Amino acid sequence: MASKYNVDDNGFYGEFGGAYVPEILYATVENLKKQYLAIIESEEFKTQYNDLLRDYVGRPSPLYFAKRMSEKYGCQIYLKREDLNHTGAHKINNTIGQILLAKMMGKNRIIAETGAGQHGVATATVCALMDMPCVVYQGALDVERQHTNVERMRMLGAEVRPVHSGNKTLKDATNEAIRDWCCHPQDTFYIIGSTVGPHPYPDLVARLQSVISEEIKWQLQDKIGRNYPDILMACVGGGSNAAGTIYHYIDDERVRIILAEAGGQGADTGHTAATIHAGRLGILHGARTLVMQTPDGQIMEAESISAGLDYPGIGPMHANLATQHRATVYSVNDDEALQAAYELTRMEGIIPALESAHAVAALQKVQFNPDDVVVLTVSGRGDKDVETYLQYADKYMK
Ligand SMILES: *Cc1c(COP(=O)(O)O)cnc(C)c1O
Repeated sequence: MASKYNVDDNGFYGEFGGAYVPEILYATVENLKKQYLAIIESEEFKTQYNDLLRDYVGRPSPLYFAKRMSEKYGCQIYLKREDLNHTGAHKINNTIGQILLAKMMGKNRIIAETGAGQHGVATATVCALMDMPCVVYQGALDVERQHTNVERMRMLGAEVRPVHSGNKTLKDATNEAIRDWCCHPQDTFYIIGSTVGPHPYPDLVARLQSVISEEIKWQLQDKIGRNYPDILMACVGGGSNAAGTIYHYIDDERVRIILAEAGGQGADTGHTAATIHAGRLGILHGARTLVMQTPDGQIMEAESISAGLDYPGIGPMHANLATQHRATVYSVNDDEALQAAYELTRMEGIIPALESAHAVAALQKVQFNPDDVVVLTVSGRGDKDVETYLQYADKYMK
């Protein structure tokens, strides 16, 4: 049966998606498009991928019944613990898969872009594992702000190239990575970190992250005797942990999908990363999607306390799910996310990543029935955010 919400043969999710790349990359992207499905569905790929997910990443990640949070919100809350993966988040599911794909396509050099450094670290990690040279582009401002991740990438053997153009953040790093790719299309594989970029990347990343919902299915069957929840919840930056969480339920209308994007200081304040609320149709990094832009179409700088959600675009899959009303998307502000992070920490002993805290904060915005089974993905752990959390300790630690 054709999926109503998944990607079509031309790389579109409804009116969103596609592959808008410079002429010089056309053949490279076309080649990836022709090869990726055959490779990632091959037995050789699946065996290596699944072995690494088990033995290196530490999968399956637990599905944990959060008893105290369930009592508080009046429903049955299960947390999908991506925070327990090697390197501390879901991003490694994707980078492991893409580096195996790169090897099987005969590529011998890896490039990536990174904002906060989480995707850079996940990429540098798999490059060390596979003994591949790795160049990570990062905005010069982010290199300064995220110095511990820069040190981690360097220790792992990656070359971090600071980007001094534009605002010196993620958007500029991405432009520079694309420029590099244009110069080395033959030997270089570009590992993209979320369900963004030109087709087939959004679909490739969604498939590699779909292990999350594949596990949720059998874990729920084991725990509650049925393989679907009533509600799935996740945060969205570009959309990869959300895509993985919903992948196997996307056409199952029994399952409601609730997503949390980063409101920053408020979706209407101009200091926000709430792309679905504040964005308009545009083209960003090779895809037609919702983009935050000025009235004359310049890309706006995204603002959120959470570096991983700080992106002025959104994956085409989620732009479509929101437009079609398949997903409900809440904008969660910085202060709500901080409060939710303290709540999860004190009630369940789990310090979430700031990104994941946005999904936790969305619990307050939903009316639940006591029987509702809710699966909420904790996309990453909060070790990297402890400094930020402590800056607000007086306000939220009661
Ligand atoms: C990068 C990141 C995100 C946001 O990326 P998505 O592609 O939207 O999942 C969310 N949580 C954590 C912990 C991250 O590192």
